[in-house]
Amino acid sequence: RERAMVERRQRLLGPAYRLFYERPFHAVRGEGAWLFDAEGERYLDCYNNVASLGHAHPVVVEAIARQAGLLNTHTRYLHETVLDYAEALLATFPASLGHVMFTCTGSEANDLALRIARAATGGEGIVVTSLAYHGVTSALAELSPSLGEGVPLGRHVATVAPPDAYRGGPGMPARFAADVAAAFAGLARHGIRPCALLVDTMFTSDGVFPDPPGFLAAAAAAARAAGALFIADEVQPGFGRTGTMWGFERHGVEPDIVTMGKPMGNGHPVAGLAIRPSLLERFGGRVRYFNTFGGNPVSAAAGLAVLRVLREEGLPANAAVVGAQLLAGLRGLAGRHAVIGDVRGAGLSIGVELVRDRSTREPATAETARVVNALRERRVLISASGPGANTLKIRPPLCLSREQADLFLAALDGVLAEA
Ligand code: PMP
Repeated sequence: RERAMVERRQRLLGPAYRLFYERPFHAVRGEGAWLFDAEGERYLDCYNNVASLGHAHPVVVEAIARQAGLLNTHTRYLHETVLDYAEALLATFPASLGHVMFTCTGSEANDLALRIARAATGGEGIVVTSLAYHGVTSALAELSPSLGEGVPLGRHVATVAPPDAYRGGPGMPARFAADVAAAFAGLARHGIRPCALLVDTMFTSDGVFPDPPGFLAAAAAAARAAGALFIADEVQPGFGRTGTMWGFERHGVEPDIVTMGKPMGNGHPVAGLAIRPSLLERFGGRVRYFNTFGGNPVSAAAGLAVLRVLREEGLPANAAVVGAQLLAGLRGLAGRHAVIGDVRGAGLSIGVELVRDRSTREPATAETARVVNALRERRVLISASGPGANTLKIRPPLCLSREQADLFLAALDGVLAEA
């Protein structure tokens, strides 16, 4: 049945899409941290950072259904729910971020952030990390090196190594700010004026680099000293995943623009940005921004319900507690399995780097793929990232329980013992 579906998909959708796992997964239903396949078999979802509250959360489902039953339309009419949502969302940010704009995807949010940043700075130069992913539009593909050599970077884009203390040595996170300064200086030598430092505050596609808390503040300062803005891409870390509402909070820094998406509607497409109001003056004076679905009534109702559940269920705090349990358990596994080179993370955003040899740190690329696929056969879903595709990426819903964390650890232990 799976094979027939894969063939049908290829015939209908063409060759540009990729599926996860050697045996692609067909989910038909979700509940909490569980996904169920067509046969009713239960899988622990440690991959999905979209349904962050848990799959099909009843409060969000109810909010979506209620608003959809009343009205959904484009965003040219007055609608109260979007204002209530904007207010509730802005209350989660530092007071300096006084406006919010809504889009449907994280890509649109980053694309809009870049347009505004260009208008505000008059510059074009963008600094990103060497395996960054920021989205699908052509402007973002030009600055998303993780898309590979098929998509060349723009002339206005410079990359810096991610703050990787495992491979870069303990001085690395501190060096990150100096690298950012040097990257802007390099662009300036080619006559390219600074626009923005754009980073995922957990460096997810680079391989997950959260430590030490605070190091990003110096990089933001370096960007600003060069005349650039600091844009925090919170599409992955935002909404409580790292144990705080926003990833940048761990670094004690206030971004100029924050972009967000993925878990914002717990699966319903909602995305947007928060911004310092003064930055919007030039852009807003020249451009009339319209996004048909961005901030539509149903999306706003979903987003508002997500904020309520995050607060009422204390999910950021749960992410911190269960994340710490997972990190401790993974460090325990590292004592038994030499293939584990490094364990790192914050809250429920965790990376486990697998290596062939702890002294050379040679990436265990093929082994990592085998572990991901073997876990899938044990009904635990994760993925991998990083330059050698050798970092297990673990991002369960924020409602993950202690028992489910133990179940994950036991499954990984079993798979590594077999390998
Ligand atoms: N930024 C980051 C850090 C992301 O991980 C992603 C999606 N993986 C995006 C932006 C783009 O979001 P979307 O797919 O919703 O357009």
